[in-house]
Amino acid sequence: MTGASVKVAVRVRPFNSRETGRNAKCVIQMQGNTTCISNPKQLKDGAKNFTFDYSYWSHTTAEDPSFACQKQVYKDIGEEMLLHAFEGYNVCIFAYGQTGGGKSYTMMGKQEPGQEGIIPQLCEDLFQRTGGNSDPDLNYSVEVSYMEIYCERARDLLNPKSQGTLRVREHPILGPYVEDLSKLAVTGFTDIRDLMDAGNKARTVAATNMNETSSRSHAVFTIVFTQQRRDQMTGLDTEKVSKISLVDLAGSERADSSGAKGTRLKEGANINKSLTTLGKVISALAEMQSNKKRKSDFIPYRDSVLTWLLKENLGGNSRTAMIAALSPADINYEETLSTLRYADRAKQIRCNAVINEDPNAKLIRELKGEVERLRNLLFSQGLDSSLFNFSLFVSESQQQQQPCWCSWCILLPAAAGSHSQWGHTSEWLRPSRCVL
Ligand code: ADP
Ligand code: MG
Repeated sequence: MTGASVKVAVRVRPFNSRETGRNAKCVIQMQGNTTCISNPKQLKDGAKNFTFDYSYWSHTTAEDPSFACQKQVYKDIGEEMLLHAFEGYNVCIFAYGQTGGGKSYTMMGKQEPGQEGIIPQLCEDLFQRTGGNSDPDLNYSVEVSYMEIYCERARDLLNPKSQGTLRVREHPILGPYVEDLSKLAVTGFTDIRDLMDAGNKARTVAATNMNETSSRSHAVFTIVFTQQRRDQMTGLDTEKVSKISLVDLAGSERADSSGAKGTRLKEGANINKSLTTLGKVISALAEMQSNKKRKSDFIPYRDSVLTWLLKENLGGNSRTAMIAALSPADINYEETLSTLRYADRAKQIRCNAVINEDPNAKLIRELKGEVERLRNLLFSQGLDSSLFNFSLFVSESQQQQQPCWCSWCILLPAAAGSHSQWGHTSEWLRPSRCVL
């Protein structure tokens, strides 16, 4: 088997005040990376064990030596994914679990020190690492978008003027994307934090207006991280692009268990469409890995907006991690068990991530390899390679036009690389990388 498996972690939160008031019992135990769940109704029935990459015990407080704080979750999962982004891979972290399980706490967290979730910690770390750059040949750029998928429709959380919903389209090369979604260039952590706050507020406003949308919608925070490097030997510019998708999924509880009726039910069915399709995609991918299915078998990515947009992150060109948020309370036993089973299935998925570099970077890498091979050849024949002056010459025809990846060009593929003919729709949507 090739590729890296999806990293899977589970995390159990403390009791909330309601649970404490009701004298809830904790049905979760953890030992190392194993999570054990016991059925509160059938204690004799024995407990069920599940092993993951990480099992995070966040049920108690920091005094407990086995307590996993926000920093630790970031260190294990967020930092690893950020390092992959620096290597040029697409990365994705998604949080799964029932409403109130702790998905948003893990992904976004709170503003108090030490309570920040993976997203703000990752952004801060990203700018800390790029901020110290003193290499004149290296340039970084960061673009951010933030959207919500609700009832199979995408809404821009960073554009207050965008009232309507956005269309999901498919670019022949770049794959599915959300049309007209703002991608804002940011140059520092404060920029990105302000955008995050604005987006979170836009989410909350909708939540109070529309029946707690936030637990019923999927929030997708995306960072497009570009590293541009001028190769001194050839004078060529090379580019590595990584898309970092950070996803806070809607609550996984089923519409039937919440007794939803009418619009709520329809809404639930629509949300479930994205979530059930995600489940089907995960099952299909897991089956494919265990050889029950052939590679060519159908994976139903297109059946929902969420899975279509996350297509690459699920079994495709991405390093992906999933964090399943668990409630500790006995009353949630069934739902928590189903979350554990879901996470268990996700463990089997493998992704074949590739470094997203432009053709120049590939060309330079290959030419350098060739020089290295020739050096070794000389060395093996007893010749001192330092007597030879190696340099790389790249002919005009070998140099490839770098395509532009901005949203304007995505809409008009013919415009790629020939910006002088086109303009951008509005100044604030202008991507930093675009030369216009
Ligand atoms: P979800 O997004 O899955 O619906 P939340 O993240 O909003 O759930 O969590 C529900 C409540 O539990 C929130 O008040 C949150 O602050 C709290 N909570 C969740 N996880 C933790 C944790 N690990 N430590 C402390 N509080 C938590
Ligand atoms: Mg939430």
